[in-house]
Amino acid sequence: MVMPRTNDSVVEAFSPANGIRFVYSDVTGVARRLVAGHGVSAAAAPAFGRVLACAALMQVDFIDDDETLVVSIDVGGRFGGFTIEFDGCGYLRGAPFETRPDTIVNPAGGDADDFFGFGARVKATRMKREDGAIRSQMTMETKPDRSAAPETLFSEILSSAIPSRICTSASAWIGVPERVRALAVQRVPGGSEQVFGRICGLVDDGTLAEQLSSDPTLDAMRDVLDLPDLFSGPTRAVDFGCTCSEEKILAAWAGLPPQEIIGFVRAGRPRLFRCHLCGRVWEIPLGKIVAAAKEAAESNQ
Ligand SMILES: [Zn+2]
Repeated sequence: MVMPRTNDSVVEAFSPANGIRFVYSDVTGVARRLVAGHGVSAAAAPAFGRVLACAALMQVDFIDDDETLVVSIDVGGRFGGFTIEFDGCGYLRGAPFETRPDTIVNPAGGDADDFFGFGARVKATRMKREDGAIRSQMTMETKPDRSAAPETLFSEILSSAIPSRICTSASAWIGVPERVRALAVQRVPGGSEQVFGRICGLVDDGTLAEQLSSDPTLDAMRDVLDLPDLFSGPTRAVDFGCTCSEEKILAAWAGLPPQEIIGFVRAGRPRLFRCHLCGRVWEIPLGKIVAAAKEAAESNQ
C-alpha cells in the first residue's frame, strides 16, 4: 500500500442508471518528480504529464497487486517515445526515450502535437513484480495519419475491452507541472449508447478538460455530466516509485568482461549510473564494483 506524499490518486465512478463508468487520475506529484528527474523542458512538461495521467488510468483494469504494467510507445513526433511502468501497489515511473527533450524541443513552445506527431507503435506488457515473468502482452500499431496523442492511444487500449474515451488536463508553471489529470469515460456492456455519445461530445468540445482543470470533484462532475446518480468508488493512492537500486546496478556491472572492470579502475573515480526510468543518478564507489565483480567471478568458477 502506497503512503502518498501528494494527492496523486486513481478513482472510479459509476452511473448505474446509464451504464457509464469513469476513471479519474491525478498524477501531478509524480509528473513533477519525473519532469525534474529527466530535465524535461518547460514546453514539453505538460505533454509528458498527459502521458503519465493516461497511463495511470490503466491500473484499474489491467494490473493486480503483484504485477507491473510496462507500456512502451514509439511516436512519430519529437518525443520519439516513452516507457511508463506502473505497478499494482500504485508506484508509477517512466521517461521519454530522449532523456533530454530540451535538446530536441523548441523551448519557445510550438504545437503540442509536435511532441507526439502521427502514427504510433504501442506495446503493453504485464509482468510479475517479483521476477519480471511476462503474464500477457499486447501490441498495437496506429496508422501513420492518426494522431499519436496519448488520449487517442490510451483510449484505443482501453477500448479493446469496452468503448472508452479519454480527456486530459495538464499545465505547467515555469516548467513545474500543475494539475495533471485524466478522465476516461467508458460504456459498460448494456450501457446507454446515447448517453455515452453525449459525454463523448463533452470530451470533443473541451468541456470536460476544462472541468478537469478547474473542479473535478464528484458534485461538480455530476452537474457537468448531468448524471445525478454518479457515485465514486474507493480512492487508490498513486506515488512515484522506482525499482532502481545500488544492488541491482552492481549485479549488472559484476557480469561485465574483466577488461571493462579494469577500465573502470583505471579511470580512478566512482562510476555514475543514470536510471533511464526515473532519472536518478547513482554514484557507485569503485571498491564496491571490484568486490561485486570478484564475487561474481568466484561463484562462476
Ligand atoms: Zn530509477
